[in-house]
Amino acid sequence: MLDKCSFCGSSEKDGLTIFPNDSGTASICSYCIDQAYAALHGGEVAKKSERIAGEIDFEAIKPKALMEVLDRYVIGQERAKKIFSVGVYNHYKRIFRKDEIEGDDTEISKSNILLIGPTGSGKTLMAQTLARFLDVPIAISDATSLTEAGYVGEDVENILTRLLQAADGDVERAQRGIVFVDEIDKIARMSENRSITRDVSGEGVQQALLKIIEGSVVNIPPKGGRKHPNQDFIQIDTTNILFVCGGAFDGINEIIGRRIGKNVLGFGQEKRSKKENQNLLGMVEADDLVHYGLIPELIGRLHVMASLNEIDEAAMVRILTEPKNAILKQYQKLFAIDGANLKFDDEALSEVAKLAIKRKTGARGLRSIIEEIMIDIMFDLPELSGYDVIISKEVVSEGAKPILVKQNLTA
Ligand code: ADP
Repeated sequence: MLDKCSFCGSSEKDGLTIFPNDSGTASICSYCIDQAYAALHGGEVAKKSERIAGEIDFEAIKPKALMEVLDRYVIGQERAKKIFSVGVYNHYKRIFRKDEIEGDDTEISKSNILLIGPTGSGKTLMAQTLARFLDVPIAISDATSLTEAGYVGEDVENILTRLLQAADGDVERAQRGIVFVDEIDKIARMSENRSITRDVSGEGVQQALLKIIEGSVVNIPPKGGRKHPNQDFIQIDTTNILFVCGGAFDGINEIIGRRIGKNVLGFGQEKRSKKENQNLLGMVEADDLVHYGLIPELIGRLHVMASLNEIDEAAMVRILTEPKNAILKQYQKLFAIDGANLKFDDEALSEVAKLAIKRKTGARGLRSIIEEIMIDIMFDLPELSGYDVIISKEVVSEGAKPILVKQNLTA
């Protein structure tokens, strides 16, 4: 009885969330709540049929189309973007062309994705960009916060609670969403060659994660937190959820290098160049990840693998200026609204890029650097109408004042 709305009789099968009352005698669905809200406060409620998750237009998500979308937001990382596009396309092909696939003997396994690359290189950004384009919910979690059930920390199921929240409580939508698990490398169990003490704590989390990644029906507490016996659960089927895991995998180059017989770092040997390291990373295989400390079963579920490059100075400058929502474009818009014109000298852009590289947080550091530089200028912005505001290298490196040039309106 409790699994049906006491007002309209809908159930979760209709793609709605059902909320029981505390005494367990009645329930209400998310649709009726919205209707009641609209009756009290005005506003329109979409028809129930419209709310039941709009299908993804499968024709519109060919790999080339996905790549085009990624190109608009993610700079560089060409190979990773390609692999990611194909992985996402295959994932949804499995869902939407189910009938054709099931009529055949060939079973197509779920292709979850593993992105390997340094922090701030665009791993989360790629997943977020495609989730937005596909209009599917996305939940981003950090593997390091997860623990085995019963220990202090977050239960793995909370990842799915977060996805359900991102889907506004719509179970159907959540079941087609994307889960991004960051820092997956940090739950690797330490193998002998990385640490003297063998630490198996990560393995339990990996097992728990495996269970939801491989596709199963999971009971989740709708509000997150610990499971307790008197709580009602919502069931989420993870079969069609796309899991994308990301990690930096520091030191994996040594493992790859050893496998392919290249010289390992040692006394008297030259340090490998960045380029060589990147080439090695591109050759990563499942075995290397097992050596690193991921359990083979988990890797078996993440068979689409792509590696991302560290962001160099040139790429940093492009990230500042090129993406559709580039930081500089956003500031220029803010200036234009106040009638001013913002210009960054090329040297100033390089200087910002260098500072970001120094911070070692990848492109993530760019925004805060620009914000620090701009704060005083933004303070004065309303008085700068009619001026070109030029940010030179000195503004970035020495905190000098920007150059103001009165706009020649007749020109
Ligand atoms: P991570 O690789 O650690 O998941 P993110 O994808 O979260 O890093 O990147 C952090 C931020 O840095 C992004 O929100 C974006 O603004 C910027 N960024 C990182 N890499 C790129 C890239 N290749 N192209 C454009 N912006 C990027």
